[in-house]
Amino acid sequence: MLLTIKSKLVTTQEQHDQLLRTMVFFNKACDYISDFAYNNRVFSKYQLQKHFYYQIREKFLLSSQLAVRAFGKVTESYKVDKKTFHRFKPHGAVVYDQRILSIKDNIVSILTLDGRIKTEIKYRKDKNIDNRKGQTNLIYKSNKFYLQIVIDQPEATLVNSEEFLGVDLGIVNIAATSDGKMYSGEKCQRVREKYARIKAKLQSVETHSAKRHLRKISKKERRFKKDTNHYISKDIVQTAKDTNRSIALEELTGIRERITVRKADRDKHSKWAFKELRKFIGYKAKINGVIVRFVDPAYTSKQCSICGHISGKNRKKQDTFSCQKCGHIENADWNASKNIASRAAINQPIVLCSGN
Ligand SMILES: [Zn+2]
Repeated sequence: MLLTIKSKLVTTQEQHDQLLRTMVFFNKACDYISDFAYNNRVFSKYQLQKHFYYQIREKFLLSSQLAVRAFGKVTESYKVDKKTFHRFKPHGAVVYDQRILSIKDNIVSILTLDGRIKTEIKYRKDKNIDNRKGQTNLIYKSNKFYLQIVIDQPEATLVNSEEFLGVDLGIVNIAATSDGKMYSGEKCQRVREKYARIKAKLQSVETHSAKRHLRKISKKERRFKKDTNHYISKDIVQTAKDTNRSIALEELTGIRERITVRKADRDKHSKWAFKELRKFIGYKAKINGVIVRFVDPAYTSKQCSICGHISGKNRKKQDTFSCQKCGHIENADWNASKNIASRAAINQPIVLCSGN
């Protein structure tokens, strides 16, 4: 399975400047090639290189391999659209291949206009960076350099288990499993509220630095949420794997239905975070050979996990399930996740009781 990972480069000021200068020259070269390609309607890499490979090298001080990659970047972009002229931003990505960028352990050797430099990169250790595929992009964001690396993460053989770990996604609990484990949303909520307060204050100030601060805060919040989703998805997948079970999740429509009744701003934020958590569970499951089955989300929160009785009255309180038929009382999210697990196991449509 191909995954793209983003790793930060640890650079000295000198290395930072060297990389930035390389980036600017690389993109200037792209612009120059683009200008010729567009005006002369020549979009073949071979033709363009034949025409002014040496000129590009000399004019923009690029090494042979970097020059080739600049031709590549321009022709790739025109493959998508030849109707408009393509301009390349000074801080756009520089495309590297294995000949001009190598990584050993956590040290990257990367070509600049001043020759090769060596710097440290940071990445999650569970990613096998030795399985690097194709090209690597050098990108520049908020005054820092990152590598976008495509890696081939091996997948385990799928274990076809008909036993399920049911997972209910929500807000009070970001996730609840049919084993009774709750991943509380409380901390996320607190962080969100804290950032919302700072944002409101900053939004009333129209200065440049306030705007910059605002962007920084938003990024921090996204980062926190992402880390949380990484942690939860990893734990859920590991639990399923360790106990030889598949994972059961609701189809996406169920989550949307339940969220729309909540505040608009929370709605937007939650939808995004849910999608991300599901995506993370999906790919981590695949890597670990765990099957994910999606079930019909109808009434998972209103159905009793013991007797099967479905009624809106079973949910009088926000966080407690209380069956009107058999008297079963349980945490609402736990009850829902059990329903999700059993639905996946029987894989049958839901039969509604009358009189609801
Ligand atoms: Zn019941």
